[in-house]
Amino acid sequence: MGTLVNIVVGSHVWVEDPALAWIDGQVTKINGEEVEIQNSDGKKVVAKLSKIYPKDMEAPAGGVDDMTKLSYLHEPGVLQNLKTRYELNEIYTYTGNILIAINPFQRLPHIYDAHMMQQYKGAPFGELSPHVFAVADVSYRAMINEGKSNSILVSGESGAGKTETTKMLMQYLAFLGGRAATEGRTVEQQVLESNPVLEAFGNAKTVRNNNSSRFGKFVEIQFDKHGRISGAAIRTYLLERSRVCQINDPERNYHCFYLLCAAPPEEIEKYKLANPKSFHYLNQSKCYELVGVNDAREYLATRRAMDIVGISKTEQEAIFRVIAAILHLGNIDFAKGKEIDSSIPKDDKAKFHLQMTAELLMCDPVALEDALCKRVMITPEEVIKRSLDPLSAAVSRDGLAKTIYSRLFDWLVDKINISIGQDPNSKSLIGVLDIYGFESFKHNSFEQFCINFTNEKLQQHFNQHVFKMEQEEYTKEEIDWSYIEFVDNQDVLDLIEKITELEVPEQVALKVMKPGGIIALLDEACMFPKSTHETFSNKLYQTFKNHKRFVKPKLSRTDFTISHYAGEVQYMSDQFLDKNKDYVVPEHQDLLGASKCSFVAGLFPPIPEETTKSSKFSSIGSRFKLQLQQLMETLNATEPHYIRCVKPNNLLKPAIFENINIMQQLRCGVSTLDLNGFIVLGFPRLGVLEAIRISCAGYPTRRPFFEFINRFGLLATEALEGNYDEKVACKKILEKKGLKGFQIGKTKVFLRAGQMAELDARRAEVL
Ligand code: ADP
Ligand code: MG
Repeated sequence: MGTLVNIVVGSHVWVEDPALAWIDGQVTKINGEEVEIQNSDGKKVVAKLSKIYPKDMEAPAGGVDDMTKLSYLHEPGVLQNLKTRYELNEIYTYTGNILIAINPFQRLPHIYDAHMMQQYKGAPFGELSPHVFAVADVSYRAMINEGKSNSILVSGESGAGKTETTKMLMQYLAFLGGRAATEGRTVEQQVLESNPVLEAFGNAKTVRNNNSSRFGKFVEIQFDKHGRISGAAIRTYLLERSRVCQINDPERNYHCFYLLCAAPPEEIEKYKLANPKSFHYLNQSKCYELVGVNDAREYLATRRAMDIVGISKTEQEAIFRVIAAILHLGNIDFAKGKEIDSSIPKDDKAKFHLQMTAELLMCDPVALEDALCKRVMITPEEVIKRSLDPLSAAVSRDGLAKTIYSRLFDWLVDKINISIGQDPNSKSLIGVLDIYGFESFKHNSFEQFCINFTNEKLQQHFNQHVFKMEQEEYTKEEIDWSYIEFVDNQDVLDLIEKITELEVPEQVALKVMKPGGIIALLDEACMFPKSTHETFSNKLYQTFKNHKRFVKPKLSRTDFTISHYAGEVQYMSDQFLDKNKDYVVPEHQDLLGASKCSFVAGLFPPIPEETTKSSKFSSIGSRFKLQLQQLMETLNATEPHYIRCVKPNNLLKPAIFENINIMQQLRCGVSTLDLNGFIVLGFPRLGVLEAIRISCAGYPTRRPFFEFINRFGLLATEALEGNYDEKVACKKILEKKGLKGFQIGKTKVFLRAGQMAELDARRAEVL
């Protein structure tokens, strides 16, 4: 931002504060670079001149509905504006075309009702208060008018409100593109009811959100030529599998397990269910109930939603039977068998659950026991059955539970898609993306790696889009735009997803192998039987020792750190190989493929011969990469709109606005930011603030000519008297004050950082 020439004794400023992020105060003394400030909380502090920001004393009391209307565009100004609005229950604010949504953690009256929808219908963007409906409306209009597909990308950390926002968007689109209520199920009804079904099976209580989606989702809503919803496709990404058999207090397993335990008595009896406390997969956490949620009622609601999306009663019965089977499966404990390193069901209780599991999955109980406790080894000479010790048998059991559950989830998604149906004639669609935000925990594993990879991809898409829009604005205003820096994270993406290239130079008959990215190296490691996470890590260290986005942490021999756009994340490599292998044990495959229940057998279709021979495993990382590629292709063919959700506090409570927490989300999870640079070169971190910065790189403030003259005309009265046109008048004012580097567009003045504040200071002298 450079030196702020306009700060004098008496100036109102923002200064950093350890508790509040920023606090306002008044300058009492200036001593070279040191400034003494009397803060509004009564404390006196000393700060560097370059670290304080002027406070806009003319900012409207209720805040501004678009951040670009702020006279001084800096972090404290942005934060203050959001806070002011949040206190007035104005949870939505624009930043140009981006909508910022701060989770209210309470139902705000009327803001989503039919009357509100009616109001936003067809209203020009920006005319009414910022709202998700406005974003949906502008997407819909653009689609109708230009015949182009649109997409709405909803991002934010867990619990920030992405899924709720997505549902609101879908409701509004159903309102615009729905038919008058008719008998039977309409496409839009099915689209909307897919939400509760997917939530029952894909959402769970976590520490960060009581209804956390454990999968990513892209819903593509198709429209016919009349603008009516004619089909839809739901794509899901990476369901968290580990949750099925492992949960930590105070989290819960997937909702459906608890719902089923609260089913009507006939079903409880049929599936031999009991209190959730009696099931190992549920009782690892002491949390069984959700505040304000009645599981019995939710069970029935889920059943109804399943009816609407077209899941038959027979299928529903099979689905819940499988869910019950997973609960029983988890209760099969193992003890040492007679032979060394063998295992058997521990006691009568374990035998009962084994029997129940087999009954519910309609498979042979002896075959089930074998599949859990033994492995078939095929050597060139013979086929032998090797026993597993109790610990390995439990691992085998959990593996089976995870496989069944994830296949069931995929089945549900496929079924919903088939039942809603695709419109092959649809020319335009609106896609809504609800996907996990950037994650950085104390321990990060393969899941975080994939999630953060997703976010890098989306970030690149975002950068390119913001850059393009900026270019368009500058071109429209006919100003020189060589100043805009284009920040790109291609280097991180290369590090992660680059493929191994085989180069054959023409002259030399030598094959030169270029190293691939982390995913390629991981796949390679998974294919070598002797690989361990140590050899994998060493390979990474060797290959990327000079990569500026890759760091080998000093205190670890197997971890690795990636410098993501949002900050550094250290990954523990020890489970990468296992988690990357999408491998179903043949014993499990054979067991369930032979189930007498066609639904269960259908979840385990026979594997074609060739695939079993050619590739030993299928890589989750590579498949995910491919899915992301397809997603990006879809998104690139659309006009994007962005909604950034913000979580105001970690207590999940209304009316608590935690400055520092929010600031970090706006900066996208990074707590230290170079506040002086508008674009932090070399290490761009592009959160909401950075988006503002990019769009304002060079020219943070833009003002239409008439507004500029109204505010600063008094600095050069001759410019007004001379009867010049507005453009010339603006130029004269700026030149008279000796400002340099600004640009005059066709309708607006474009000012450099700090120039607005400088003009205000001059104005204050005159007034
Ligand atoms: P995310 O999908 O980002 O993890 P959710 O959309 O599930 O977060 O939101 C978490 C919780 O916050 C919801 O269960 C709901 O209680 C509350 N919430 C989110 N958005 C709103 C909103 N617009 N109005 C009221 N409550 C909301
Ligand atoms: Mg969610």
